[in-house]
Amino acid sequence: MSVGYPIDLHTHSLRSDGALGPAALVERAAERGVKIQALADHDTLAGAAEAMAAGERVGVRVIPSTELNTESEWGDVHILGYFLDPADAALEDRLRWLREHRGKRIELMVEKLNALGYPIALARVMEIAQGGSLGRPHLAQALFEAGHVPTYDSAFDTLIAKDAPAYVSRVGLSPLEAVQLVVAHGGVPSLAHPFTVIGLDLLMPLIVAAGLAGIEAYYGSHPPAMTATCLSLARRYDLVPTGGSDFHGRGDHGAPLGGVFVPPETIAALEARRGGQAAATMTTAVGGD
Ligand code: AMP
Ligand code: ZN
Ligand code: FE
Ligand code: FE
Repeated sequence: MSVGYPIDLHTHSLRSDGALGPAALVERAAERGVKIQALADHDTLAGAAEAMAAGERVGVRVIPSTELNTESEWGDVHILGYFLDPADAALEDRLRWLREHRGKRIELMVEKLNALGYPIALARVMEIAQGGSLGRPHLAQALFEAGHVPTYDSAFDTLIAKDAPAYVSRVGLSPLEAVQLVVAHGGVPSLAHPFTVIGLDLLMPLIVAAGLAGIEAYYGSHPPAMTATCLSLARRYDLVPTGGSDFHGRGDHGAPLGGVFVPPETIAALEARRGGQAAATMTTAVGGD
C-alpha cells in the first residue's frame, strides 16, 4: 500500500550523505508509492545512472540532480539543480573541485575533534562514506559509534553544527555561483529549504537575476507560514514551487521518502524551465537523425 506521495524532488543516497545506495533508495521510494524522484546528492551526480536503472525496473522516473550547499553571510543557501547531465565532463570538473574541498574540511574537523578529546579515525569516516561525497553526517555517525555522543543528531548540536566547537567552514561556491553553475549546464535551479537562509527577502532578487527557477515551498519542517511565504515569493518572482523530503535515512533529519506533498503540475513547470538543453533536444528531434 502506498504510504507516500508520488513526487519527491529532494533525496540523498550513499553517493553523498544518505544511508542507502542509489538503487536501494529508489526501490524504497517505489515501495512507498513514489513515481517521480530527484536524486540530489551533494556535489555529485555519481548515483544518477544506478538510480535511473533501478527506476526503470521499479517504475520510478529518476531526475538526475544535485544539491550545492553554499555558506556565506546569507546563512545556509542550498541550491538544488534539476535535470543535469551525469555525462557533462565540465560540470563534473566543478563538482569534483567541490568534493575535494569537502574532503579537506572533514579532515580538518577530524583533527579538531581529536584535539578536543573526541578521538575518531579519518579512515573510519571514509569507510562510513563508502566513497560518497564527504559530509558532516559521516562525522556524526563516527562520533556516535565511538560513544562520544548519545545520539547521531546530538553530534550536530554539541560538536559539529555551525558555531559548535569542532566546526570548520566550507570553501565552495557563493549562492549566485551555485545558481549560475546549474543554469550554465542546462539544469533548473531551485532554492532548497528557504528557512535556512538569512535575509531571504534581500537575497531573492539577486539569485532570481542569476537564473533561479524554483523555490522549495513544500518541505517537511516548514511551518504553514513558511510555505505561504515561499508560495508568495514564487508568484512575485515567477518561480516554480518545488518540494521534497530531504530524506537521508540517517537520524531524524528530513521527512520519510515521499513524505511531503508536491503538486503534480510541478514537473511540467520545471521541464518548461529547461533552457538550452530543452531547446537543443527539440532541435535534434525536429532535425531527424
Ligand atoms: P555538510 O554538507 O558537510 O555541511 O553537512 C550538511 C548536511 O548535514 C546537511 O545536508 C544535512 O544532511 C546534515 N545536517 C545539518 N545539520 C543537521 C542537524 N542539526 N541534524 C542532523 N543533520 C544535519
Ligand atoms: Zn545531506
Ligand atoms: Fe540542504
Ligand atoms: Fe538535502
